[in-house]
Amino acid sequence: MSTGFVDLHTHSTASDGTFAPDAVAVLAKQSGLVGFALTDHDTIDGLEDAERAAHEHRLEFVPGVELSCQFPHPGTLHLLAYCIDPQSSRLRDVLHRLIEARDARNPQMIRRLNELGVAITMKEVEDAAGGEVVGRPHMAAVLLRKGYASSVKDAFNKYLGQGAAAYVEKERLSPREAIEAVLAAGGIPTLAHPVQLRTENDAQLERVVKDLIDLGLQGIEVIHSDHDAADVERCTKLAARFNLLKTGGSDFHGINKKEIQLGLANGRRIPRQFMDDLLARNHEPARTANG
Ligand code: AMP
Ligand code: ZN
Ligand code: FE
Ligand code: FE
Repeated sequence: MSTGFVDLHTHSTASDGTFAPDAVAVLAKQSGLVGFALTDHDTIDGLEDAERAAHEHRLEFVPGVELSCQFPHPGTLHLLAYCIDPQSSRLRDVLHRLIEARDARNPQMIRRLNELGVAITMKEVEDAAGGEVVGRPHMAAVLLRKGYASSVKDAFNKYLGQGAAAYVEKERLSPREAIEAVLAAGGIPTLAHPVQLRTENDAQLERVVKDLIDLGLQGIEVIHSDHDAADVERCTKLAARFNLLKTGGSDFHGINKKEIQLGLANGRRIPRQFMDDLLARNHEPARTANG
């Protein structure tokens, strides 16, 4: 039995977190963790720096990425991919497409905001983002700074959330495209925060999970900041029933979600065993799909 705690769901400045990738590693060390995964939205740009810093601080590191997939409103389906090969051309193609989808959507949302009388420019949002992943949290930061919203939540309610005044749809991957790309990159596809699927009952949740398993899903996020005790139990049972890896993380975003602390998910810590099981699966031979 291994001891210690980890965090397998974190975001850095490479996407919409506020800590640089190496600063996430430093914070993980300061928080007493033995390892962590960096799982930025739509990009692997932070992985190299995070891994280098992790090793400097004698932390285990798991390279990851989080992909948003098509799913019926009001639910959201996010995949967490672990142990991906950053050189995979298939994965790189998919990530490139996702950045292009952002670049198509962001100016449309800025235009809508301008039409609503909000003085905000694409340049301001890009500056807030810093990296290639530019999105609504960065718009929210600008709205907050300029006094158009009182909080990030307020910015999403008034302007940026699904169905709000300035919202524009973004092209997303189908679950199949996402899972196949992850497998092609030698990665382990897992389901992030199942509670956000907003399924209506256990049977519906089970059906969604089974369909994803048919596509190649290998794990499920059991512990997450949005999960209460019943959610943790529900997901743990699903993992056992379908022989899925269990994962867990805080979904740390730095001060963009200041209520979330690294290594702590709604009061729970994440056992090192979850990380060890992922890494053990990664070393099993003959798992990788073609490509
Ligand atoms: P984007 O990738 O640009 O569509 O923005 C998605 C990100 O916005 C998610 O990762 C969340 O962190 C954040 N987000 C989405 N909805 C809300 C909300 N209602 N309140 C606060 N943050 C949100
Ligand atoms: Zn995020
Ligand atoms: Fe997510
Ligand atoms: Fe996340």
